[in-house]
Amino acid sequence: MRKICLIYTGGTIGMRQNPNGKLAPVDFEELRKNIPTLRLLPIELEVKTMDRPLDSSEMHPSVWADLANEIYTLHDQFDGFVILHGTDTMAFTASALSFMLRGLKKPVIITGSQLPVGVLRTDAVENLLSALEFAAMEEAGAPIIQEVCIYFEYKLYRGNRAYKRSSNEFNAFSSPNFPPLAESGVRMTVHNELLWRSPVAELELHKGYSNEVGVVTLYPGLDFNALQVQPNWRILLLRTFGAGNAPNSPDFIEFLSRCSNNGTVIVNTSQCVSGAVVHGLYDSSSALERFNVLSAKDMTFESALVKAMLLLSESEDLREFGIKFSSSLAGELTE
Ligand code: ASP
Repeated sequence: MRKICLIYTGGTIGMRQNPNGKLAPVDFEELRKNIPTLRLLPIELEVKTMDRPLDSSEMHPSVWADLANEIYTLHDQFDGFVILHGTDTMAFTASALSFMLRGLKKPVIITGSQLPVGVLRTDAVENLLSALEFAAMEEAGAPIIQEVCIYFEYKLYRGNRAYKRSSNEFNAFSSPNFPPLAESGVRMTVHNELLWRSPVAELELHKGYSNEVGVVTLYPGLDFNALQVQPNWRILLLRTFGAGNAPNSPDFIEFLSRCSNNGTVIVNTSQCVSGAVVHGLYDSSSALERFNVLSAKDMTFESALVKAMLLLSESEDLREFGIKFSSSLAGELTE
């Protein structure tokens, strides 16, 4: 029987209304009571619960590091891992774990639900049972899935390619730049040709992170003169338009040069969720080219931000940062 470790971090899936009528996380035993079919799965399940289950809007990089550390420590004892997590920041955690656990050869499947487990029409039961089934899939003893994924509403996504698209539909996640890795319907269908296989031989734990990353979203009328460059910005993610476009105006160029004088490297990430940043396509991105701006290519915003936070802690050398940032560490971008 496959041995799966289930890590419960919180989220709507395990929430109940408190006396004030607000949803708050409860412990895992509450959840288990509501899914009696869990016992029918041909899986040996071991449950670990975070000391204080969280609403995922309270998530912090230190929790990503704890989770990565736990999986790294338990790696040899289990065939796979399922993490129960709130949907709000699930895509950030999935991206973080995919970069922190380089060389992963086992499934780490993150899931949750839009309705709490005790609610009659909940999506929790299907999401959890299918996530466990995908985590337990094997061929000749080897796990079929060997990467960090998000499972939600009949689809298995590469975790660092997905983002939360809806707060009120069961179909809460989307992966616009990479197709789902698998679907669960009457049959569980896995698209083997899409699965990630890490070139890193041994599992490596990279649990450092840095907060020296800023984010600025462009919009028509943004007053660049009023925008202060923060001294601690080593990286600034600029959320540009379309294929990575920004105005060519003097005040924008002056803002870029203030960033450059501050030693801040700019990453161009588009507000469009589908498609890639292409430098030089339009004249309106030429200012960015002059300042050696890095392209986030077709990475999700979540993935680009988390990758920047984690890579910054690995090296002081921003050139080395640029090389790693621009290449695929865990299938997060199309090269
Ligand atoms: N606020 C919840 C969370 O992210 C939402 C959810 O789980 O769907 O923890």
